[in-house]
Amino acid sequence: MTARVLVVDDVPANVKLLEARLSAEYFDVTTAYSGAEALAICERAECDIVLLDVMMPDMDGFEVCRRLKTNPLTHHIPVVMVTALDQSSDRVTGLDAGADDFLTKPVSDVALIARVRSLTRLKMMTDELRMRAVTSREIGIQNPELEAIAEIGRGGRILLVDDRRASYERLAAMIASDNTVDIESDPNGALFRAAEGNYELLIVSLGLQNFDGLRLCSQLRSLDRTRNLPILAIADGDDQARLTRGLEIGINDYLVRPVDKNELQARVRTQIRKKRYTERLRDNVQLSIEAAITDALTGLHNRRYMETHLAALVDQAAARGKPLSVLVLDIDFFKAINDTHGHDAGDDVLREFAIRVRKSIRGIDLACRYGGEEFVIVMPETDMAVAGTVAERLRRRIATEPFPIDRGQRQIDVTISIGLAGLEGADDTAANILKRADQALYRAKRDGRNRVVADAA
Ligand code: GH3
Ligand code: MG
Ligand code: MG
Repeated sequence: MTARVLVVDDVPANVKLLEARLSAEYFDVTTAYSGAEALAICERAECDIVLLDVMMPDMDGFEVCRRLKTNPLTHHIPVVMVTALDQSSDRVTGLDAGADDFLTKPVSDVALIARVRSLTRLKMMTDELRMRAVTSREIGIQNPELEAIAEIGRGGRILLVDDRRASYERLAAMIASDNTVDIESDPNGALFRAAEGNYELLIVSLGLQNFDGLRLCSQLRSLDRTRNLPILAIADGDDQARLTRGLEIGINDYLVRPVDKNELQARVRTQIRKKRYTERLRDNVQLSIEAAITDALTGLHNRRYMETHLAALVDQAAARGKPLSVLVLDIDFFKAINDTHGHDAGDDVLREFAIRVRKSIRGIDLACRYGGEEFVIVMPETDMAVAGTVAERLRRRIATEPFPIDRGQRQIDVTISIGLAGLEGADDTAANILKRADQALYRAKRDGRNRVVADAA
């Protein structure tokens, strides 16, 4: 997919120039001649990256950037500031406004394309996560966008990889007041610590004495454990070819020596802010996956998850010739509990029941709420005799210990009936096992409830 680049400049000739160069590389280019126009385009989500002129009448580039980065609709769009002067103070102002990178006029083609490519590639990844995280917002988990805007990127955990003492001592001193900085001078040690330590940012000096710093960056990108760890490279000279290579490999940002303290601090904050944002998105996606397979009242798995998973467990057991047992459990006279003590008391009973179920089974057993007051427990590698013992123990645990209701102010007696069936031969199916367990449950109910009945197949 080609990236959509928004070029913003009040001087039409500048716009045309960048547009021509980007179009030649097959980027899809949109243009705007004022900050207000640019903000509107970004709000309509019509671009993947913004190239933003700093000097504009009405609203300057810093202000446009600030507004983009504090709006939940647009804060994730990368912004590259295009400045006339290569002044560190300008860069720091831009970074504080939330800018992701800088280009200096006249803009070099190589630098332009390398940065646009690397930033849009990162954005595609974030977009994928955002898209999945949106669904979870609908089911009421946290909002990562608002947290991202509030995040200031301080207190980071940083690993600094550099083997020249004078250099690492100076770099560490610049950022130590805001962050926890560990130093590693051995590249192999760095790889290990990056994977094992809980870091939020890696700063890698490209001018290592005995090792190619870019090779280390490429190794970091290929390992699962370090793939998502941001890398800020420190280059010795403005070796554009090598830096372009670095951006292709996947470094997130770089600085050229001599390193300016304020700029280093600002770039570190930017990387840490972004890292925390993507982590939040990832957590959010994880939570939404869990929510989709979990029953909200009891925290047990839901029916949909059980049905998919049971089929897989049955196939696996059948293929390996291993036993597998299934219990279907149903609370006795549950309707009467609701009618007598109220629906909330009924919910209390369901929650407490789930707690007792969890305590009675092993980690590999799968417990789910099948619907209403009916539950299913799948026990892999368990024959019916053992499953019968577990079922009987659970039945007793329910019947002999009264259930608290009304926030523990009252207690009521509850009983359950359990039907039990096991895998019968290689051709048996999940549906058939469930059906036999259900028939056994029916007999348990018919024979007086508060009992375990095994399928007699
Ligand atoms: P039996 O011993 O034959 O199983 O009788 P029962 O009353 O337990 O079974 P029945 O199927 O007649 O009633 C089940 C009741 O469970 C009806 C329904 O209102 C109630 N129920 C289903 N889901 C929930 C829930 O989430 N919370 C509460 N409080 N009640 C629920
Ligand atoms: Mg019931
Ligand atoms: Mg029922």
